[in-house]
Amino acid sequence: MLSLAERLAFGWLVIVCLYYAQIGFVQMIRIIRQGAAAQRSDNLIRRFALALAIVGLQLPLFKIRPIVSIFHAFIFFGFSFYILVNVNDMLEAYIHGWTTLGRDSLLLGGFNLLADLFSIFVLVGMLFFLARRFLAKPKVLEFNDNVLLHPDVRQGGIRFDSLVVGVFILLHVGSRWLGTAFALAGEGISDPSLPTASIVAGFLVGASPEALELGRHICWWLAMGLIVVFLPYFPRSKHLHIMVAPVNLALNRRTPKGAMDSVADAANPGAKDITDLPWPQVLDAYACIMCTRCHEVCPAHESGTPLSPSALEINKRYMLRSGGVAADGIIDLPSLLEGAISEDAVWACTACYACVDVCPVGNEPLMDILAIRRRLVFDAAMPDELATVLKSVDEQGNSFGESARRRPNWTKSLDFEIKDAAKEPVEYLWFVGDFASFNESCQEVSRNVARVLQAAGVDFGILGKAEKTAGNDIRRVGEEGLFEALAEDNIKTLEGCDFKKIFTTDPHTFNALKNEYPALGGEYEVVHYSTLLLELLQSGQISITKPVEAKVTYHDPCYLGRYNGIYEAPREVMRLCGVDLVEMPRNREKSFCCGAGGGRIWMPDHEDMTQRPSENRIDEAVALGGVTYFTVACPKDMTMYSDAVKTSGHEADMAVRDIVDFVVQAMELPQGEALAANV
Ligand code: SF4
Ligand code: SF4
Repeated sequence: MLSLAERLAFGWLVIVCLYYAQIGFVQMIRIIRQGAAAQRSDNLIRRFALALAIVGLQLPLFKIRPIVSIFHAFIFFGFSFYILVNVNDMLEAYIHGWTTLGRDSLLLGGFNLLADLFSIFVLVGMLFFLARRFLAKPKVLEFNDNVLLHPDVRQGGIRFDSLVVGVFILLHVGSRWLGTAFALAGEGISDPSLPTASIVAGFLVGASPEALELGRHICWWLAMGLIVVFLPYFPRSKHLHIMVAPVNLALNRRTPKGAMDSVADAANPGAKDITDLPWPQVLDAYACIMCTRCHEVCPAHESGTPLSPSALEINKRYMLRSGGVAADGIIDLPSLLEGAISEDAVWACTACYACVDVCPVGNEPLMDILAIRRRLVFDAAMPDELATVLKSVDEQGNSFGESARRRPNWTKSLDFEIKDAAKEPVEYLWFVGDFASFNESCQEVSRNVARVLQAAGVDFGILGKAEKTAGNDIRRVGEEGLFEALAEDNIKTLEGCDFKKIFTTDPHTFNALKNEYPALGGEYEVVHYSTLLLELLQSGQISITKPVEAKVTYHDPCYLGRYNGIYEAPREVMRLCGVDLVEMPRNREKSFCCGAGGGRIWMPDHEDMTQRPSENRIDEAVALGGVTYFTVACPKDMTMYSDAVKTSGHEADMAVRDIVDFVVQAMELPQGEALAANV
């Protein structure tokens, strides 16, 4: 038990430190409230229960970096248990006779054992993280030189913060553990429920009772006093994530991944300043652990561009720690483009969703980027190439600058007619999309889809010149108004058609029709052609007469896989065709974006790009050894990878195929010239 003077001193320390800590917390809440409106108050109990379960199981961490995640789990579970340990230590300090040492009770023995073991876990975990950051210095913790960083970050702010937090945890837990050893030695007992502390206590036997008591008191003050002294720094440190991460996870968007939040006001100009972001995205900055997992999976960062989603969140946080903020909120901060992310980094994003998917605290840097793009488009500050495409989409309804009348021209070389779904009823309305209609390397794939469906006896039709770009990527470059106009036109066209289901070969179109059109009044049953092909194969409408002998790999398109969770249908189609499917290391939700999404396909490569994401992916496929076909299920992927096999010098090793090409071959249907030459 502490002396009266110690108890009084500790009480005063608590009051003073809590006072200064609350200043930081109140300021944080005021800043978050300055963000733009967002509705997140539905099902609050369910939201928080789910978030606590996710945090409790440490699930999001294990998506990548399994070893690091194990050591983080050591600290997390140990530190969580230390809440009980700290309560016990306060009771010991203030209540005469309260002790857990040497008690013959299963409950107290179990408590001691867990406290003892978790102390070791936390110490080992923390030493691992300090060694990793300060000795091993893995490249994934670094930023590309061209990434905009807050001056404090550039001068080692994250390293300093990591050191402070690391030393605090080591001292707090280490002192408590050592204090237990002093207590055991002072009582002259060895407690089997405290195995490691008892070992240390053995080394202290022989010390004077006064020295042991002094050691015990010093350790108590280091363990408990340090927590209190740390409190005012807590809202400024990245350790804050232990409190904010569960809140952030609880208040996350609950809409489908592929549905961007509707912009309530059509004239909403997007985000210029941090307070233009919806408040949950301001909260993101406080939840960020600065772990850089998001830029480890970011194709734009990997390829050397100035984009790092980690830097975006970290810069936001450091901006909010800086001089433009007063106790009552933000007074004067640099704009997002001045302080958080550079303009060319904003345009480097492929909207692949990998950063959001991997973030262990539920941050959404992609949503910030899209909000900033909306503002740039509103201010007409966009790459020239993008402006040309937007003009073409606005005037012609497609991104190729082609006359709308030419949209169905790809069907002309078929030896049968495809129904016009705008004029006659069909079971399946095929929303073809721009690339599958106009791009030469995709047109043969479209014809193969038509051949297979015709042979399988499917009743299908296309909209022809009445179809317009669905608008998925138009929305993601920030042209909200044009997206809404396209969606309204397409919905009006579809209202005049008689069909049961829509299918499309384009995952981007699939995403817009399935996830974004319902908010605008267009609710349909939408399927990706991989799902349709699988159904036809399983029902026997497609008969395989000659299984394909080929070793292939498959690339998961972001808008089919990560956004919409369709991983197995394309794989199963290929397996049923007889192919030998070999997985690349980055598959399914870990798939690496081809670099085309988010409108990137319409923009030139960044001058700092060291390797295109599509070439990086082809290298990954070639490294598997013996794979002859790189298979895709997306017209944009067909375009990107057809180029990449050439530019990466692998044209002789590997050809790019669509999944339907194997179906055509396995059904022994007549094939187009290009395919026949390669299969
Ligand atoms: S969406 Fe993809 S490209 Fe954009 S920041 Fe996130 S990981 Fe990078
Ligand atoms: S946004 Fe998430 S993944 Fe990225 S650095 Fe912060 S906590 Fe890590």
